[in-house]
Amino acid sequence: MTSVAVRLQENVTGKYYVTSACNGCGICFSYALQNFMYSNDSSHYYVYQQPADAREDDDIRRAMDICPMSCISDDGEFL
Ligand code: SF4
Repeated sequence: MTSVAVRLQENVTGKYYVTSACNGCGICFSYALQNFMYSNDSSHYYVYQQPADAREDDDIRRAMDICPMSCISDDGEFL
C-alpha cells in the first residue's frame, strides 16, 4: 500500500510546513533553530515558527535543500 505524505497538524499556519514523510532526523532543526521543533515523542519535526526575516527564510531554504526525505514544502497549498 502506498501512503501519501500529508501536512502535519503541528505546523504553524503559513507557507512552510513539514509533511508526514519526515523521519525525525533533526537536520532541519540544526539549520533553522528558530523555525523547527520536534514532536512530543521525537518521531518527527514540524514548522514551529514561520521565518521572521530574510535570514530565517534562507535558513529554512537550506533545510529544505538538505532534508533527506524532501518533506519540507512551501507550496502554500495548506495555508
Ligand atoms: S530534515 Fe526533513 S526528515 Fe529530517 S527532521 Fe527535518 S523535516 Fe524531518
